[in-house]
Amino acid sequence: LESQLVHARKMEAVGQLAGGVAHDFNNLLTVINGCSDLVLEALPPADAGRVMLTQIRDAGQRAAALTRQLLAFSRRQVLAPQVISPNAVVANIEKMLARLIGEDVRVETVLSPDTSRIRVDPGQFEQVLLNLATNARDAMPTGGRLTIETENLVLARGDALSRWGARPGAYVALRVSDTGCGMAPEVKARMFEPFFTTKDPGKGTGLGLATVFGIVKQSDGFIDAESEAGRGTCFRILFPAVTDDVRPASQHDEPVRKGSE
Ligand code: ADP
Repeated sequence: LESQLVHARKMEAVGQLAGGVAHDFNNLLTVINGCSDLVLEALPPADAGRVMLTQIRDAGQRAAALTRQLLAFSRRQVLAPQVISPNAVVANIEKMLARLIGEDVRVETVLSPDTSRIRVDPGQFEQVLLNLATNARDAMPTGGRLTIETENLVLARGDALSRWGARPGAYVALRVSDTGCGMAPEVKARMFEPFFTTKDPGKGTGLGLATVFGIVKQSDGFIDAESEAGRGTCFRILFPAVTDDVRPASQHDEPVRKGSE
């Protein structure tokens, strides 16, 4: 629990710092990219400088894409938690996920029909699925299976799962698993760290799982993963269930701001 708290604080600090830097950086990049474009247009086709200038412009565009992601990561967006059906959201974006993940990967959903509702910003819940699916895709370059499952889970005191620090109670369990390359223990130990990535520069930012972690924490949820190199990875997330007669564990009646001004 403590290490999850440390993670959350660290992430917020890094997010704020990164957001500030990304904003200023973006302004500078606008100048660099804009001027590169203008000079490229003005240069005659045979000019030897075009090759280098094209490299400058391409690098500038990659940098702009990175700062956009940083801004999205740290954006102080107004959250609007709602009581939603996780099954409905999964069903809604299943086709989109299948497209994103490519032809070689089969997407399977196993949605228990009685899965309770949860209290979360619906856009953020989609973001969680999207980020996990993107990672699953990257872990299965030669194909495989992505499985998304939901079901209710009642956590009793002393349950093995309470090692997550989860209070006993009613939860919705979301499992996202793949048959991909899996993670070595030293990768798994750092996977939630902002900017930790094993992917090639330009491909990975190391912000996907940090974002997932932040969203789950904001929803008073819990996340962990089981992973075996060469076999695959399974992320398990618990969201407090919203039942008819019980107040949700999350008490956010007002929209809450992520981060601080
Ligand atoms: P990124 O995807 O940009 O690298 P993430 O924070 O989403 O950043 O993931 C961090 C690292 O965790 C990845 O670089 C990868 O090594 C590992 N990882 C995450 N998800 C999976 C997965 N489903 N299978 C194998 N490795 C994974």
